[in-house]
This record gives sequence, C-alpha cells and structure tokens, in this order.
Amino acid sequence: MILPMSRVRSAKRVTSFADSVFGEMTRLARLHNAVNLSQGFPDFDAPAAVKDAACAAIRDEHNQYAPPYGTKALREAIAGDFAARHGMAIDADEQVTVCCGSTEAMMAVMMSSIDPGDEVIVFEPFYENYGPDAVMAGAEPKFVRLRAPDWTFDPDELKRAFSNRTRAIVINSPNNPTGKVFTRAELEVIASLCLQWDVLAISDEIYDRIVFDGRPHVSIASLPGMAERTVITGGLSKTYSVTGWRIGWAISPRALTGGIRKIHDFMTVAAPTPFMDAGVVALSMPPESYTALAADYQAKRDLMLDILDRHGFTAYRPGGAYYVIADVEKFGFATDTEFAQYLVKDVGVATVPGSSFYFDPASAPKTVRFCFSKRTETLMEADRRLERLAT
Ligand code: GLN
Repeated sequence: MILPMSRVRSAKRVTSFADSVFGEMTRLARLHNAVNLSQGFPDFDAPAAVKDAACAAIRDEHNQYAPPYGTKALREAIAGDFAARHGMAIDADEQVTVCCGSTEAMMAVMMSSIDPGDEVIVFEPFYENYGPDAVMAGAEPKFVRLRAPDWTFDPDELKRAFSNRTRAIVINSPNNPTGKVFTRAELEVIASLCLQWDVLAISDEIYDRIVFDGRPHVSIASLPGMAERTVITGGLSKTYSVTGWRIGWAISPRALTGGIRKIHDFMTVAAPTPFMDAGVVALSMPPESYTALAADYQAKRDLMLDILDRHGFTAYRPGGAYYVIADVEKFGFATDTEFAQYLVKDVGVATVPGSSFYFDPASAPKTVRFCFSKRTETLMEADRRLERLAT
C-alpha cells in the first residue's frame, strides 16, 4: 500500500490545477446522451481536399518524423499566409515553429520566454490553459477583467496590472469564451503598455478566420513597434475543422525562435508528418473559402442567439470565434456549474460553466458557454431539448 505522504505522489506543480473542464463536459454529454455544445469542435465534415491530402501523405509513406520545427513547405505556407494578410514579412526558417496544436505552441512560448518569478497578464475570462501554462513556466498570472456586454477592459485596470515584474501579456482575439474581437484602438492601448514596460505580447489567433459582421481581425503584431515583441500562436484546428490533428504553430521574433524550438523538440519532437502535408493544401485554399467559412459561422451564431433568446437566456452577441456566453443568474441555481450539470443531465444539452474561465470561480458572473460549431440539425435538436428548461 502506498502511504499518503509517500514520495510516490504527484508533484506540487500539478496539485494547483483543476482537471480540464472541456473533456469532462464532453464525457458527461456522452454519458447523458446530451447534445454536446460544450467542447469547441465541429460535428461537421472537414474539407474533402484537406482530408484527401492527409490520406495521400500516409499512403505515400510520409509516416516518419518530420523535421522538428515543421516541414519547410508548411512553414512557408504559414509565413506566406500571415505575411499576406497582415502586411508583414515573416521568415519561414527563422520565425515559424510547427507544434502539436496551438495548445503546445502556447506552452512552448511560455516555457521558453518567461522566467520563474515573472508575471504574466491574462485577460479574464480566459481559455483555461493560460493559467497552468504560466504556472508551469514558474510565473504568476495577473488577471484583468473583460466585462459584459461588449467584453471590453478598463484601461486603468490594465495599466495598474503592469509593473517591472511583467514579462508578457496574453491576448486572444477573436476570444474564447466571449467571442470578443479586440478593436484596433484596444490593441493600441495594449501595445503602448507593452512598449512602455518592455513586455512581450503573446497573441493567440486560433480563431482569426472566424469574424462576423464585416469586422477586421487585427493582429497586435502588425501595430508599430510590436513585430519584434509579439509571438502569434495559431493552427489548423478551427479554420479547417480538424481539431484532432494537432497541428498548430508559433510565429515569433527571431530572438525567441530558438528557445521555442528547444522546448518543442524536447517535449514532442515534431507534429504529425502527414497532417503537415495536408496543412499545406489547407493553407492554399482560395480566399472565397474563408469568406464562406465566416458567413456560415455567422449564420450559426444568429441561429444560436435566436434559440437562446427564445428560451429566456440573456446572451452576449459574439463578434467572432464560435462560442456564445449566456447569463444564467435568473435560473436561480447556486452556481453556474450546478446549472450546467442540470442542463446536461435533465435538459440534455452540454455547455461549459462560465466560471471555469475565471481564476476565482466564486468571483465570476453566473454564465454558461454554448459552442455553435455544429450542424444546423444539432442546433435545432438543442432547441427542442431546451423546451424542457424550467424557467
Ligand atoms: N478550444 C476548445 C474549447 O475551448 C477545446 C479545448 C480543449 O479541449 N482543451 O472548448
């Protein structure tokens, strides 16, 4: 028998982390046969040409390790695409590192660019990985609130969060979970503080192609003085509906690339080779396909908002990404987690409790997040199930 104080126990660094809420909600959705609007992945098909390219690569025996930082063809495709969209020159050899999903890219960036004792500013609510990423890098996360209904921040609160200990700030636009798309003016405020305090911007742009109502997606890297102090993370998962392939990347200033690559190489060696080949095909899709993607998602957003409105939710209209936050205070549950449990078990719709996107869940507004990256039939089924909701 292993005694509780045995040395065979989990390390201290993991004891402060909760289990990931996304996988757990998907598990509960399966258990209760609920419509799964929790974890952010599509239930529709990935583009045929992209899938065919992966199958062909496997058949052609592209099955061994890829170069650790990614194949040259994929790095060039990533650099070319980003450069063309943001009017910046990106060197595929010196600035692009392909990782196992943008989740690994974010971790590799934090582990390689932040020292123990540093502080990292994170906008809250935040995608749950940023907290543990910062902690694993030995840093202390500092949170700055985004507030409903438009999820903007108070510039004074942001100013107060910066200090000589600040090493980096994480920006995620379009944002998970709120759907906020940061405006150029907001990014300028952040950029000027980064320049003033000599801080790195880590910009998670995984939803960059999913923006609505004609909004532009602005990368903070494209603002004056920011190219040299911004790392962008991105990936294939959301744009091409291949979340299980784990192909993501970091685009970094030259000075940081070596560190990112070392962490990535020691952690995972390389991302899956055949999916890198398929990534080259994905990134060569014509511009119209991205216009269609954003329009399809906009229609899904509108349907989701309509469903939520009809069932009595106060939902905050997202400008991008594929989630809607809805306020659930009025349903009278003690916590949003309890409401989400009721919703998955008794109503048959799985969501993510909004408080799980906050460092201190007790201080969070009571909300749940609905993912609308689903077929119309799936959203309509959720609509039918929500009839059971006791209001
Ligand atoms: N990004 C997705 C979400 O927010 C999935 C994340 C995950 O499973 N870790 O739901």
